[in-house]
Amino acid sequence: MQHRLSPDDAAFQQKMREFFTSKVPQDLRDRWAAGGEPDPDDIRTAQRILNAEGLAVPHWPVEYGGSDWSMLQRHIYLQEMQAASVPPPLAFNANMVGPVIAAFGSTEQKDRFLPPTANLDIWWCQGFSEPDAGSDLASLRTTAVRDGDEWVVNGQKTWTTLGQHADWIFALVRTDPDAPKKQMGISFLLIEMSTPGVDIRPIQLIDGGHEVNEVFFDNVRVPADQLVGEVNKGWDYAKFLLGNERVGVAPVGSIKRKLAEAKEHAGSVQTDTGTLLDDPLLAARIAELEAQVMALELTVLRVAANSREGKPDPASSTLKLRGSQLQQDVLELIVDIAGPAGLAWGDDSWTGLAAPTYLNFRKASIYGGSNEVQRQVISSGILGLKG
Ligand SMILES: Cc1cc2nc3c(=O)[nH]c(=O)nc-3n(C[C@H](O)[C@H](O)[C@H](O)COP(=O)(O)OP(=O)(O)OC[C@H]3O[C@@H](n4cnc5c(N)ncnc54)[C@H](O)[C@@H]3O)c2cc1C
Repeated sequence: MQHRLSPDDAAFQQKMREFFTSKVPQDLRDRWAAGGEPDPDDIRTAQRILNAEGLAVPHWPVEYGGSDWSMLQRHIYLQEMQAASVPPPLAFNANMVGPVIAAFGSTEQKDRFLPPTANLDIWWCQGFSEPDAGSDLASLRTTAVRDGDEWVVNGQKTWTTLGQHADWIFALVRTDPDAPKKQMGISFLLIEMSTPGVDIRPIQLIDGGHEVNEVFFDNVRVPADQLVGEVNKGWDYAKFLLGNERVGVAPVGSIKRKLAEAKEHAGSVQTDTGTLLDDPLLAARIAELEAQVMALELTVLRVAANSREGKPDPASSTLKLRGSQLQQDVLELIVDIAGPAGLAWGDDSWTGLAAPTYLNFRKASIYGGSNEVQRQVISSGILGLKG
């Protein structure tokens, strides 16, 4: 199969490649490529370099720093960013709360929050999930009760990624416990993490790292003008946000880079007859993964091209599913290539990082909506099957 970019798109690709590889410092990109726990300063630095060039939030409305790019150009941008190991703009800011505020927020909220959100002067975290409200998100129990000009928030969120670095949290809260359907009594609230009564506690993960947290709210008083859109309409905004979240989770460029690294590592491991890359079984495994990544890449393009008016194609669930599976397959391959050397984990060598990275990315099939739930969306929403 042959696919060639038009001269304009090829020039765009070249421009992106040059920018990412020359304007974002090499040492920062090397740290990102190596994996392990991300340095928040690197994430901030990279986003600000991108934002200064108008490249942090290209999918936002143009008046708030977006670009009028085609879907193909957005795809090229992401691919080149991932290929150059540039930390992507913080997803909570760029893909989640930013588009929600731009689409549903008041003019005051847009002016107040969008510029610092694009520039990562505000670091956002996502306060949706709770104990017993993950896949069944509408069961959430954190309440917000109106008292004068404020909302009083009580409850608990969990799995709050990078919340330890966050300045603000966007949270779903129950504002009408008596609504006829549980989806109808939920609102979308912006809360400053330094507000009295907000307590954040770390959760230690299997790879030894700390990237998720629990967040507790004890009589937290939130100014009423920090509620986005209309009271009790938060579920609609959450659905809009989750659709965007899924589109962003088929990291084709990163998977390709990791696969290329896997090949390089295989070529560096000596065997009796040459290197691991000469092993026909391993070579076949790599070739099969390469073919599957190419199929995913073409599917990403098709789905992106079908997205209309900010509404993601329901097929975005296939991207979430396939993207996370392939990412995990490639990381498993790297563990296998590392072999016994991978047992001595914890140092910064590729063999030392192989096992913790593999374990860390087990998360990819759970967050952003678990893969079982994506399969249900695909079976009913795309294939039309009734359960
Ligand atoms: C590393 C990580 C980071 C996260 N970061 C954030 C964050 O920053 N902010 C945030 O709000 N949330 C975050 N999450 C939460 C994430 O969105 C939820 O974990 C996810 O939605 C699953 O919910 P749950 O953990 O409650 O599992 P459950 O919903 O209890 O599911 C348990 C199991 O049952 C399966 N299951 C559930 N319902 C169905 C069904 N209807 N049909 C078939 N199978 C089903 C699931 O697939 C899963 O295997 C994060 C999660 C992880 C792991």
